[in-house]
This record gives sequence, C-alpha cells and structure tokens, in this order.
Amino acid sequence: MLNATYEPINVCTVRRAAVLLLKEKAEVIEGGKGELHAEHTSIIRPLVIRLLSFVKLPRDRHRRKITRRAVFARDDWTCQYCGTGSGLTVDHVIPRSKGGSSDWTNIVACCAPCNRRKGDRLPAQANMHPARIPGPPSPNVFIQVASPRIPTAWQQWLPDLTAAPVPDAA
Ligand SMILES: [Zn+2]
Repeated sequence: MLNATYEPINVCTVRRAAVLLLKEKAEVIEGGKGELHAEHTSIIRPLVIRLLSFVKLPRDRHRRKITRRAVFARDDWTCQYCGTGSGLTVDHVIPRSKGGSSDWTNIVACCAPCNRRKGDRLPAQANMHPARIPGPPSPNVFIQVASPRIPTAWQQWLPDLTAAPVPDAA
C-alpha cells in the first residue's frame, strides 16, 4: 500500500485492498493476473495500490512492536558490533541490569560471540559501540517483516529495501 505521495506505508491483504478500491479510497498501481469479483463489478487483482488521500504516518513509530526480525531488518541483518551476518541475536546496548530500556533506541542486532563478549557491560566499559545509533525503523522495515519475499511488482516502490536472507524453512 502506497501513500498518496507514492511512499510505501504498509502491507495489507488482497481483501482489504479490494475494499479500499471498491470504496474508491485507493487506485491500482500494479495489477496482477486475474480479476476479483464483487457483487456487481469486478476489479483487477491488486498488487500495489495507492491511497487517494494522504495518510499521516503514525507519530508513535517507536511504539511499534519490537520483534527480532524487525530489529535484524532495520540493522541490515548485520551484527552492529562486528558486522557479521550470522548467528544473530539481539543486544540491549545499555544492559537491562543497568537500567537500559527495551525499546527501539536500545536494542540492536548482535552476533552471539559479540553478545557474550559484551556481557553485562556498558558500551564504554566493553569498548563496543553499535555501528549505527539505533532508532525506530522506517515503514519499509515492517513491509519487509510482513512479507519476507518481496514480489517483483513491489520492488520498484521499495528502493531502499535491504534484501533479507532466505528465510528459514520455519
Ligand atoms: Zn558481532
């Protein structure tokens, strides 16, 4: 789902997209094969839709749910201390035992060895500082998490998206 400004904002179900189209709140930007049939009409199967009126993005981005996948996607699937892409876990930059919060500004992707090395120390004590200051992720991150395999039709609308590693069989 694109905002009126063509900025990607969300992933929704085909059903939800169809409702928005039938209510004329959105238009189809990319259509797929086949049609969806409603009572008196049929519409192209929507792959990318655009809202016709601008939606202000929620200001409470930092409150969006923190999941490991979203943290990893925000951090480009790399340990924020050594840059490796394997064995990722999450680390509280300021350890919880030292009053660190469990929010987007204090949680980073971290490989297991770095996590062990840093242990319960502050970044300055361990001389380990995250490569990027962590913060709330962009909507693209949630799009990637909602749909680990990005369909081809979406790609041109998501220029900043980092390719996720092939998801586990699970
Ligand atoms: Zn590491």
